[in-house]
Amino acid sequence: MDTLRRYADLLPLSPGALDELPKGWLSPTPLIDAPAMAKALGVGSLRIKDEGRNPTGSLKDRSSTLAALHAMSSGQRDLACASTGNAASSLAGICANLGLTAHIFVPDGTPTAKLDQLRMFGADVLIVRGSYDDAYYLCRDAAKEFGWYDRNCATNPYLVEGKKTCGLELAEQMAAEPADWVSVAVGDGCTVTAVHKGLTEMVRLGVIPRLPRILGIQPEGASPIALAFQEDSDQVRPQVVSSTADSISVGRPRNALRALRAVRASGGSLQTVTDEEMLSWRERLAGASGIFAEAGAAAGIAGLSKAVAAGLVGPDDRVVHIATGTGLKDAGRIKASQTQFRYVDPTMESTRQALGRPSPV
Ligand SMILES: *Cc1c(COP(=O)(O)O)cnc(C)c1O
Repeated sequence: MDTLRRYADLLPLSPGALDELPKGWLSPTPLIDAPAMAKALGVGSLRIKDEGRNPTGSLKDRSSTLAALHAMSSGQRDLACASTGNAASSLAGICANLGLTAHIFVPDGTPTAKLDQLRMFGADVLIVRGSYDDAYYLCRDAAKEFGWYDRNCATNPYLVEGKKTCGLELAEQMAAEPADWVSVAVGDGCTVTAVHKGLTEMVRLGVIPRLPRILGIQPEGASPIALAFQEDSDQVRPQVVSSTADSISVGRPRNALRALRAVRASGGSLQTVTDEEMLSWRERLAGASGIFAEAGAAAGIAGLSKAVAAGLVGPDDRVVHIATGTGLKDAGRIKASQTQFRYVDPTMESTRQALGRPSPV
């Protein structure tokens, strides 16, 4: 069943709003066992919630879809969004389906695949010469001046409600074997807040007995929320960001306080990882689980390995990692690493040679 229809009673939508939702657009994403990866990390078990399977390839489809339905039910057909890429492509996708217009502000340097999605979905795109933060303020001002519906996470509470469905699904999927830890990447802080909210509602409804501890991960080059957590402070200092993980490269996070509160309330932690650790663990994740996550979406795996080394996550702990988006969106950034491909002529002779096999007698 469509996830928004399944959880309609827990979502702030007016009665008719769901009638507009295209059937099959947003289905629950799978929770996948990854035993080899659990071994590599040194934890009791690891399950991956693969958000890369959403319609446009990231968890942002949850928030964009709810926002589009909300906009429609309030009679608005022009939607605006500033994004590092995934929020934009998800908004453009659902707008394409519903016949709405998506006005998109993305920073220079957005990965090609995400721009290609915007092209294919026919969005109205402005590439801002500046950072995501610049794009954010510009979008907010433009939405105000031109009367567009603003799909930005600081100004729009519907987004957390949409992303919350990830936590609601997860609670039901792991009810028979609740996780001790849930790891997830943190940029603006909406996602981690929303996952916490969804899980908390499911604790209240008796679906899971208690809240798992939440491990929020930021890249070292964009870590204002993690730094505030480590200083045990609510003071979130803006940063000039530098990280290859575009989807979580946020220097002025819009949901920092709620994110800090969510992680603290769960008894969890916020940690940082280097880009190198993130990229190397994303490769290990792919090789040991068959799940190819984008760099930011694999940050939590790198974070888990550090948390295990530090004794924060125990060797028997049951862990769920939320892989927030598909690696096909930033595949261009992969360096041909240790695996060397071999060329062959279309003959068995050439193939035997390449594989070092003898010719049959
Ligand atoms: C947006 C995003 C995040 C983080 O979400 P925030 O709400 O910005 O914290 C993580 N991973 C991916 C792939 C994303 O697109």
